[in-house]
Amino acid sequence: MKNKTIIVSNRLPLNVSVEQGDVKVFPSVGGLATGMKSIHQNSESLWIGWAGVASDEIDEITAEKIKKLSIKEKCVPVPLTHQELEEYYFGFSNRVLWPLFHYFMEYADYDETHWEAYKKVNEKFAEIILENLNEGDKIWVHDYQLLLLPQMIKDKRPDISVGFFQHIPFPSYEIFRTVPWREEILKGMLGADLLGFHTYDYERHFISSVSRILRYETNINSIHVGSRTVKVDSFPMSIDYEKFHNAAIEHQLKNEKTSLQIRIDQYKELVPDSKLILSIDRLDYTKGIAQRLKALEYFLDKYPQFTEKVRLIMLAVPSREEVPQYQHLKKEIDELVGRINGKFSTPTWTPVWYFYRSLPFEELIELYTSSDVAFLTPIRDGMNLVAKEYIASRTDQTGVLILSEMAGVAHEMNDALLINPNDDKQMSEALKQALEMPLEEQISRNKIIQKRIKRYNVDKWAEDFMEALDAASQLKEENL
Ligand code: UDP
Repeated sequence: MKNKTIIVSNRLPLNVSVEQGDVKVFPSVGGLATGMKSIHQNSESLWIGWAGVASDEIDEITAEKIKKLSIKEKCVPVPLTHQELEEYYFGFSNRVLWPLFHYFMEYADYDETHWEAYKKVNEKFAEIILENLNEGDKIWVHDYQLLLLPQMIKDKRPDISVGFFQHIPFPSYEIFRTVPWREEILKGMLGADLLGFHTYDYERHFISSVSRILRYETNINSIHVGSRTVKVDSFPMSIDYEKFHNAAIEHQLKNEKTSLQIRIDQYKELVPDSKLILSIDRLDYTKGIAQRLKALEYFLDKYPQFTEKVRLIMLAVPSREEVPQYQHLKKEIDELVGRINGKFSTPTWTPVWYFYRSLPFEELIELYTSSDVAFLTPIRDGMNLVAKEYIASRTDQTGVLILSEMAGVAHEMNDALLINPNDDKQMSEALKQALEMPLEEQISRNKIIQKRIKRYNVDKWAEDFMEALDAASQLKEENL
């Protein structure tokens, strides 16, 4: 058998349905699955992760069926019980690491049992990887749910190349140092031969934490761990540019329309000089949805001439509904939308169209192609792929992107209107500028951004990471 790449992430790129003993397994098309496409579909590879069904909620025969059907998709499930998921995923990952790494220190809830479960689940992943590992294989571990895994693999198999990519920010040392288990976390990550982050800032924060907490010798993009050299670099994740661009072209050529597109068109026909502002995120406190709504309120108060002329289409995708902060946020957003619509609506117009659900790809494309402005204002965001998807879908290169400086993607988008998501006055002025921006200016700004995303697409991202991992492994072999 040829050498393979083992991809490891919390979730497998599969949707599993179990109905009265009948098991179905379908490949899913989430962000990471798209990102890994060139590696997982086109080459020798295996993906290891949780299949999405708690192992104590199904019988052994069903578990066996899931395993067999997953193998057909080159996937190996890691069985996790309901309690393990509660403690490792909702507990430690999403109530300690997620808030802290996004600078929401006050939301971090340190619980020793959650940490113990996190370690145990990382070990479970390590065991399954080791069972499936052959000499010469490479391993690519993804994201903050599996920070301890690189060292667990390296302890058992120092000969194997391990890469790790973090999809969320890495916070500054001053934030990271507050974690009770900071040393174990850094040592866990340093089991990798290559550590990748979206931006140079996250990379720098990581290196500074290692140097100050572990006192290891560090250089600009490498760390000395005993006799090993660990490489650290930035790889800004991208999107499947052609998929979004081509879907937008096809959509414009098509005759049938969905009910969403019909409603959008009716609004545009009713008020010909009206403009649509788009907002798309998971309902997460890091995304700045409440601040965005308050900025819209400020804008409508300050510039009444836009009454009936603009509409915010706000898509909030349900997320982590088990975590209390997400439940509070949902209530806050519902109330804010109600207040703004109550305050400004006229008999023929409501300023905010609010969707609390996820939309199929086709409707996402409709939103991207129909919206004059994308208003993306996270308080913190590792990258923000929606920004890239919006620009890729603008086939005539019109449209204005208002973007938070705090999103990783802002580093690649100097030509967007960059704002501070805590400053409603600045956001309101940016809205006015966006709504009044001449088409030539829109095109000249987007041209540059579009060219970059087209060239540095997600396949290039994965390819660059794998090349850097090979180079780091070469270094490892010389040191062995
Ligand atoms: N998305 C989706 N369905 C929806 C809305 C959004 O699949 O109804 C996708 C969107 O196309 C994007 C992803 O969700 O690829 C969101 O990624 P982003 O990096 O912006 O934020 P994250 O949710 O990873 O924090």
